[in-house]
Amino acid sequence: MRIILMGPPGAGKGTQAEKLVQKFNIPHISTGDMFRKAIKDSTELGLKAKSFMDQGKLVPDEVTIGIVKERLQESDCVKGFLLDGFPRTVAQADALSEILNDLNISLNAVLDIQVPKEILVDRLTGRRICKSCGATYHTLFNPSINEKECTKCSGELYQRADDSSETVNKRLDVYAEQTTPLIKYYQELGLLSSIEGNQPMDKVLSDICLVLGVN
Ligand SMILES: [Zn+2]
Repeated sequence: MRIILMGPPGAGKGTQAEKLVQKFNIPHISTGDMFRKAIKDSTELGLKAKSFMDQGKLVPDEVTIGIVKERLQESDCVKGFLLDGFPRTVAQADALSEILNDLNISLNAVLDIQVPKEILVDRLTGRRICKSCGATYHTLFNPSINEKECTKCSGELYQRADDSSETVNKRLDVYAEQTTPLIKYYQELGLLSSIEGNQPMDKVLSDICLVLGVN
């Protein structure tokens, strides 16, 4: 099974990725992991990527694409793979199409997990942290008994700046802006399936399996 998994922050992409790689026994390939591995293994491209990162520069596409190509040829990819976080741009998607052509394989599906923005905002702004003991809560998923107070130590709860609604909204807008062309690209190739992400995790998974034509 060869899948690209897409979805905004807060859509539950990580959970679904985990379930899918288990179900199909395929590697979960995220760009970050790939870079770390290539650097750890000191491959030529890994070292090249590292030299850009050490200078605080963006790793150029040709290096990223080379690393993806190396990774997809490793033995654990024989059964397929789940790509997460790559491609990020249409140029990278084009390059991926070429790589897959060279390797004589094709994608089964590009899955886009969709969740209404206001729900993503609720999920992404809900974290609360105790000033005294560092315990973390979530207003939706793991609330403290009293809204403003730590259940364990009665310490004051606060919200990190990263979790503020302004920051979260900005993050979601940037994501949407970046991915819209990519979604269109895979739509035109007839590979894109939208998945309703605003439902229980198991239902999301079964919808994905339906799209993939498996039980
Ligand atoms: Zn506490």
